[in-house]
Amino acid sequence: MSTELRAVRGMNDILPDEAARWEALEETLRTWLRSYGYRNIRTPLVEATALFRRAIGEATDIVEKEMYSFEDSLNGEHLTLRPEATASTVRAALEHSLLYAGPQRVYYLGPMFRHERPQKGRYRQFHQVGAEALGYAGPDVDAEMLLMCHRLWKLLGLADIQLELNSLGSLDERKDHRTALIAYLQSRAADLDEDGRRRMHTNPLRVLDSKNPAMKPVIDGAPVLATYLRDASLRHFAAIQQVLREAAIPFRINPRLVRGLDYYNLTVFEWITDRLGAQGTVCGGGRYDGLFEQLGGKPQPACGWALGIERLLALLELNRQSQAIPQATVYLVNHGAGAQRAAFRVAEALRDQGLSVLQHSGGGSFKAQMKRADACGASVAVILGEDELAAGEASVKPLRVLQDQFRVTERSLAEAVRKFAGGH
Ligand code: ATP
Ligand code: MG
Repeated sequence: MSTELRAVRGMNDILPDEAARWEALEETLRTWLRSYGYRNIRTPLVEATALFRRAIGEATDIVEKEMYSFEDSLNGEHLTLRPEATASTVRAALEHSLLYAGPQRVYYLGPMFRHERPQKGRYRQFHQVGAEALGYAGPDVDAEMLLMCHRLWKLLGLADIQLELNSLGSLDERKDHRTALIAYLQSRAADLDEDGRRRMHTNPLRVLDSKNPAMKPVIDGAPVLATYLRDASLRHFAAIQQVLREAAIPFRINPRLVRGLDYYNLTVFEWITDRLGAQGTVCGGGRYDGLFEQLGGKPQPACGWALGIERLLALLELNRQSQAIPQATVYLVNHGAGAQRAAFRVAEALRDQGLSVLQHSGGGSFKAQMKRADACGASVAVILGEDELAAGEASVKPLRVLQDQFRVTERSLAEAVRKFAGGH
């Protein structure tokens, strides 16, 4: 086939077998978003170039080198294929006075375009799902967004996505930091790469976002923004962390996290994994209280995130490959001497009901047994302890769906377990 009739480099066809996985994921995403009250918004794929220049910022990777911009050959308008959808969402909210009736939670899902070097996990047409909480000052809504993402990883069975968090403070605080940062970068000018030297004055914070490994020593020595934050910003940041701790969601504060777009303030975060090589950021977001005003509207606080669908699918695919074919439906965990003996009876009774059971043997702690249960691919762990035995009951812990452990009588155990059989 002649090369000019192939798909454009970095833009992929998604054929029916693969598209089926996309549809299934999109369905899960929509249900999950709705369960937090987010409603769909759809904006055009093409916007005036000026929108992205104003919203994202001139001295950013996206605006400097990644935008597909062109002149409308009919009327000469400067247009751009959207590289992200926050700017479009805010534009639409302003244009249609969407916040007139109060704050809004909205989400979008669709293709974005960036002229990058194509590689695994990085394409020129890629897809994002994203949510924007418009008109909310936080920190409650910021925290809710993090809980929400965490729930998605659990729903999808993705265990190793880590949260990195930072606060960029207010405009004033950033100004003070900026002065110190420029002075520092000037003193290290000889060690900066070309981008760094150019951005040192226009957008020094962005220099810290450089992916060039040679820049790392310079970045490591730079003044840290966190030390410039004052009371209100610190309180906002602390409140988010408190919600995370109460929800037992682990996180790491990364003082170097600045994100690649100009519009962020206060909260910024990324969810990252080391299973996708260099393209390890699955989801990124933060607060952008200045954007409405920057686009000519009345100031409105807002917060949002965007998640790369291709990267999410790549993670799901890795999981699928590494998941052992389940050895049995039930893994029977026991602790206590009495429970160990009772386990034989319970296992045989479950097998009588047509269920496959892997009975733990060889001793070991409760924790070690639960690990085995997970590793063998079983749908549920059935737990027999002294407590359960005394009550003539067993505990059931579903292993492949998001549901808490619960207790049932021995007699209704088979029926309870069967609900989860083959659920993966
Ligand atoms: P990266 O650091 O990987 O370039 P980014 O900071 O440019 O990401 P954002 O603009 O925050 O990314 O977009 C949010 C998410 O969209 C990313 O975390 C990633 O999952 C996905 N994404 C961004 N650019 C691409 C791309 N070119 N191809 C595939 N997915 C992408
Ligand atoms: Mg990028």
